Amino acid sequence: MALTLFSRSRPAPVKQPTPEPWPEIGETWTPEGVTVSERYYNLAHAVVLVYKAEGADTAHAVACLGCHFHVTKDKQRTYSTRYTLREAGEVANEHAAACRALPRTLPTRPNDDGARELLHQWVRDLRRGEDFYLRIHHFDLGRLFLQRTNAWITTELQHLADSQPDLLRIQRTTYGDGKQYLILPQPKGSETRKGCS
Ligand SMILES: [Zn+2]
Repeated sequence: MALTLFSRSRPAPVKQPTPEPWPEIGETWTPEGVTVSERYYNLAHAVVLVYKAEGADTAHAVACLGCHFHVTKDKQRTYSTRYTLREAGEVANEHAAACRALPRTLPTRPNDDGARELLHQWVRDLRRGEDFYLRIHHFDLGRLFLQRTNAWITTELQHLADSQPDLLRIQRTTYGDGKQYLILPQPKGSETRKGCS
């Protein structure tokens, strides 16, 4: 009966659905590193996107391409704050109904130097007074601007850890992809004062 091993039908390859063109600009925008799940339109035809970053399982973000509304989680809730697809859809729909902003031009894809600088800036912005464990999802809000894959990001984080070991350290773990990213605290006495508070 060994033949039965070979007679199983293989699952058909999954085809990527062809995204709908954007009516207001007549083209389809598929930024690298994110999957656009849903699009809503406000009264002025600005698009409100529901998207998720590459590799994210259920966590979705909402971004309006008319105004600057951009969220990844419900700040009112204490736990489990990241949006599911359904929650993100509700938030996007609600925003689209209230927003009056005109469509803005789509974020242009930065060149590698520009993308690298963006990524480095985000790492510096996440630096705290104590160790901070960086996860790829901390970049979710910026993915529409970065427009890079997770592989590109992790390669750049490795380069950053090599070149600035006092900022970022990569540790081995036994779970996930075997790595965790640790942003080291600012050395004492080296903080730059930003005005008085
Ligand atoms: Zn808006």
